Amino acid sequence: MPDSVHPFPDDPCLPDCAPGCAEDARDCRAIADRLSRACLRPTRQRVDLATLLFQGGGHRHVTAEQLHAEALAADMKVSLATVYNTLNQFRDAGLLREVVVEAGSTWFDTNTADHHHIFHENSRRLLDIAAEHLRLTGLPGLPPGTSLSRVDIIIRVTGGAGGD
Ligand SMILES: [Zn+2]
Repeated sequence: MPDSVHPFPDDPCLPDCAPGCAEDARDCRAIADRLSRACLRPTRQRVDLATLLFQGGGHRHVTAEQLHAEALAADMKVSLATVYNTLNQFRDAGLLREVVVEAGSTWFDTNTADHHHIFHENSRRLLDIAAEHLRLTGLPGLPPGTSLSRVDIIIRVTGGAGGD
């Protein structure tokens, strides 16, 4: 996309790259572009946190507290409240999916495709189950005038090797 039509011309990657992307400005640019495409202004703080979330390309489940701890470890000066706000903004923009395991336990999932979860209660870790690996039968009739939006299944397990 030419710069002239870029919705947010500010470049948080230059001249001094964000802490999480100092080694590779191209990754930083990719993250900034991803935020822009989601209609989020790529501020330094958002790019920093998105870099922590999305670097490596694999899917992750994180809580705000976990991401805050990672941010502090990476020398980012960011409050837990800001991390919460940013995660909620990413969720609202469709970059993350929220998984509420129980009251007070919310995870943010970088895998936004339809899927389910196994929650290991001892290690408090979430594992993905591909949607096609769980067959649902006997769904109740839906209230009149409604349509099925999504089915979220969380299978809770204990014991074993810790849920890794
Ligand atoms: Zn997941």
